[in-house]
Amino acid sequence: MKVLKFGGTSVGTTQNIKKVIAILQKESLSSPIVCVVSAVGGITDKLLQAGELAKQKDKSYLTVFEKIKSIHFKVIEGLVNNPKSILKEVDATFENLKQLLNGIYLINELSPKTSDKLVSYGELLSSFIIAEVMEDLNLNTVLKNSQELIITNNNFTKAEVNYDVTNKNIVDYFNKANQLITILPGFVSKSQSGETTTLGRGGSDFTAAIVAAALKVDQLEIWTDVSGMYTTNPKLVKQAYPIANLSYQEAMELSHFGAKVLYPPTVQPVLNLSIPIHIKNTLHPEAFGTIISNQKKESHLTVKGISHIDNVALLTLEGSGMVGIPGFSKRLFETLANEKINIIFITQASSEHSICFGIDVSNAEQAEQAINTAFEYEISLHKINPIIVEKGLSIIALIGDNMKSHQGISGKLFSTLGKNNINVRAIAQGASEKNISAVINQSDVKKALNSLHERFFEVNTKQLNVFITGIGNVGEKLIDQIKQQHNFLKKNLKLDVKIVGMSNSRKMIFNPNGIDLNNWTEPFHHADKSSIEGFYQKVIELNLRNSIFVDVTANKDVASVYENYLKQSVAVVACNKIACSDKYANYKNLQDLSLKYNAPFLYETNVGAGLPIINTLNNLVASGDKVISIQAVLSGSLNFVFNNFSDKKNFHDTVKQAQFEGYTEPDPRIDLSGIDVARKILILARENGIPMEIVDITNDSFLTEANLNSDSVDDFYDTLINDEAHFQKLYASATANKCQLKYVAEYKNGKAKVGLQEVPEGHPFYNLEGKDNIVMFYTQRYPEQPLIVKGAGAGADVTASGLFADIIRIGNK
Ligand code: ADP
Ligand code: ASP
Ligand code: MG
Repeated sequence: MKVLKFGGTSVGTTQNIKKVIAILQKESLSSPIVCVVSAVGGITDKLLQAGELAKQKDKSYLTVFEKIKSIHFKVIEGLVNNPKSILKEVDATFENLKQLLNGIYLINELSPKTSDKLVSYGELLSSFIIAEVMEDLNLNTVLKNSQELIITNNNFTKAEVNYDVTNKNIVDYFNKANQLITILPGFVSKSQSGETTTLGRGGSDFTAAIVAAALKVDQLEIWTDVSGMYTTNPKLVKQAYPIANLSYQEAMELSHFGAKVLYPPTVQPVLNLSIPIHIKNTLHPEAFGTIISNQKKESHLTVKGISHIDNVALLTLEGSGMVGIPGFSKRLFETLANEKINIIFITQASSEHSICFGIDVSNAEQAEQAINTAFEYEISLHKINPIIVEKGLSIIALIGDNMKSHQGISGKLFSTLGKNNINVRAIAQGASEKNISAVINQSDVKKALNSLHERFFEVNTKQLNVFITGIGNVGEKLIDQIKQQHNFLKKNLKLDVKIVGMSNSRKMIFNPNGIDLNNWTEPFHHADKSSIEGFYQKVIELNLRNSIFVDVTANKDVASVYENYLKQSVAVVACNKIACSDKYANYKNLQDLSLKYNAPFLYETNVGAGLPIINTLNNLVASGDKVISIQAVLSGSLNFVFNNFSDKKNFHDTVKQAQFEGYTEPDPRIDLSGIDVARKILILARENGIPMEIVDITNDSFLTEANLNSDSVDDFYDTLINDEAHFQKLYASATANKCQLKYVAEYKNGKAKVGLQEVPEGHPFYNLEGKDNIVMFYTQRYPEQPLIVKGAGAGADVTASGLFADIIRIGNK
């Protein structure tokens, strides 16, 4: 014999009920079966809602009643050819239900006893309908009301079973029964005095387990709407997957900590008899599901699943008067027991100075009052403080039988939460070490589950959630590169790079599942109005793990929000150099925040676009080398200008061309004045540990007073024409000395300077072409032959690839 239980969704629609019937037909071929059914999906909630409304004298309980009725009629009409006979009986049942609701409305009260009577309609109706349909199909079926079998105490809404009487009733009934299929309503029971009771929300699973144990069947099957017990709640974590095998203890812990797919008390009756529980999916009967048993199965996983419970309140009782005095906890927990308040979680500081416990938030006020009353005397003497209540919390729990024999699991748990800026309010680890739980803010649950799932179950892939501000030339290239490389990165580096948000100065769009990179321009065009603050708020609101903010602007205001991102543990990648070349205190603050909040801050593209200059310098310093000096050509634009300018092409036209080809800033004076190069050598000096300011850098400008004092870009170009002779002089001198003009940045002994130099033949700078950059590091390890980094130092493509490299570096961390 087998017991099969079908949950609310399985009996929620005509289509699904047909699937259930097909399963029952197939299963009954080999042996008689017992089928326990839940109420039609969502009906228990609706019955309670109607009851609450009626109690509050709100006439709309009738609307909810009508809705309940129409859901049932719709199911019946789809199932039976001639529904008349069923409808007659169902109509009568609904009349009784309506009377009950009217009664609640009249007396303005809904006691637990009446509530049980009310919700029992759900299972009584669903079981009746299914049994009728089975009979209609000439299947050998009998409906038996489980209230005649399962006998409980009077603990309404969560009654306790009297197993002696119940087991006897079940055995006696089935000894005499000779039908192939028996339909039983789940959840409902009766007290010894004959009142309707129920077994607690989700209790149909329990009904099935009670029957399975009484009949000592070979297997208990729980049919539901998911393919087993998953590594974590599949509604919150897309990557969750079904766990093939679990021990009874693991299943109990997972369900106790919120894996709703199994009602926690279900395990107890079958555990002692070693009856396996098989969780199966009604919608996909072919899926393997989960087998819960005491058979030891080899598994490479130490953590088997992650559960969570929402709506938790954390209560803390503390005070010096508790230390060393026995009986405090006993009084505390007795007080809660008297109030029938269930404790989900307890920790006690070893100093005995405080006890902290978690309960359902709906009980928080009741608990607060009861405890403050119980300890009134000690509170009045200031021996202990009034109880502290915190709300809006959740508990997450890592569960697995083998966790005890593995070190480092709690380390991984807390480092993963910490990296994602998830604050842990309290921690508990069972002495059995089958469960480590942490209390966190409810608003962080989704992020916590996703990041922990990634850490413990998807060793393979890590998802990076990228937010890009600045969709210009470079931004578009970056998006393109991420699109091109997505599959490669996923396969080879196990990185799943998703762009979740994009903005420019006008628009912003978001998609927490990743923006479709094959089709983003159109939606972007119609997107919401953007703002720097609005973008930041949205990043924080989405609260995704491994979030990276990428600044592809040259905007001062954007640079000023890095601080906020880092404080929320969001990594920052920037090609914008303003933050790093601003006041030293600001640069230092960002470095400190990055360390403190474990949020990388990378800006390789600040110097030499995609060339690995900062990274090389960081590696030299980190490995103990000492930088003696740095010599560099760091301006792609100036290099372009001096490579093209000659006695045959005037200076004005050369600069115009550089600007036209996109090698200069919109205001070319920023490049030509040497400011841009000064910022770059400043950043290198700072990376070398020197707390330097921009004013400390000597800047020998090659421009004339008139050039430097120009009021506008146009004015500046005019002065270039007027001063052509000055530039020709520079050119003639260099040619006479057989030199090339190069704009050079130098750092030595804590000092830096930038300026135009005549570079002789044979010097590594002499042949530097086009818009290339070159950096020579002279260090203790490279004293004579410098370490040289050289290559294209400007351009959208290489800058985008430098940003991309920083993103990947964060992913590999
Ligand atoms: P039924 O109506 O069949 O009793 P429930 O709604 O009680 O179904 O339980 C199934 C639901 O449990 C799933 O749809 C899923 O949303 C939720 N759930 C939560 N945690 C888990 C988990 N770890 N594994 C599977 N399902 C889970
Ligand atoms: N119908 C009841 C509930 O929703 C029992 C169950 O479905 O298991 O809680
Ligand atoms: Mg359920």
